[in-house]
Amino acid sequence: MATSESTGSGDSSPIPRSLHIELQTRFGLLRGNLAVPAGSMRLSELAWNALTLDERLIAMSIASEEKAGRQVSCRKGCGACCRQAVPVSPAEAWMLYDVVAALPPGRKSAVLERFAAARGRLFAAGFGDRSLGGRATDKDVLALGLDYFKLGIPCPFLEEESCSIHTHRPTSCREYLVTSPAENCAQPGVLPASPVPTAVSMTEGLSKLSALVLGGEPQVIPMTLALDWALEHREEGQQRFDAAFLLGSLVDLMSR
Ligand code: SF4
Repeated sequence: MATSESTGSGDSSPIPRSLHIELQTRFGLLRGNLAVPAGSMRLSELAWNALTLDERLIAMSIASEEKAGRQVSCRKGCGACCRQAVPVSPAEAWMLYDVVAALPPGRKSAVLERFAAARGRLFAAGFGDRSLGGRATDKDVLALGLDYFKLGIPCPFLEEESCSIHTHRPTSCREYLVTSPAENCAQPGVLPASPVPTAVSMTEGLSKLSALVLGGEPQVIPMTLALDWALEHREEGQQRFDAAFLLGSLVDLMSR
């Protein structure tokens, strides 16, 4: 549930400043206020604004694990999970496009070259016709994930086994945490990994919201193809929506 508070400035069109949220998760109720930018925003900006809420949800997940005596083993410099088929919501694909567009020229060229190389390897391996649609079963997702991992394609943002866009990394990267030994992540399907259960998936919430405001089915895009997808759908990515509506709808969708 999300309810807005306004500035109360007497203006005929009050500007919401914060949303009071109550979000039921598997670890209990998350209650608090979310800052809301004035006016309208694109879905890319929504994704950026949603990261604060995602961090609070992830903190709930970690607290639950620690209460059960388990510690998160993910550490800086371990990029094993960055060779997985990382799912990105449409809103985050546009956010990543904006992040890359704002990089200094030298860095931007290097990142774009890595994206092109990753895409080339993916298509050469026959992944061009495979996708993770909103109706994919867990078995479909697992099979595609294992096949993808076997290709050994590092995320184009990975540099010296660390994330080069750490503050802008998408929600699936933030939400994927394990309590099993780090080396197990390098051998999925062989050694068991123990992922930390998510309180509520922000990736899924952002995918559903993108479908709600733009039409169509919720979808996720593999990280490797996120920039191509964002470019192909740039007109939708430029559409603006009331910021309070977007954030309120996101919380409502995640509460269901
Ligand atoms: S965005 Fe960063 S954390 Fe996510 S897969 Fe890429 S390198 Fe890893």
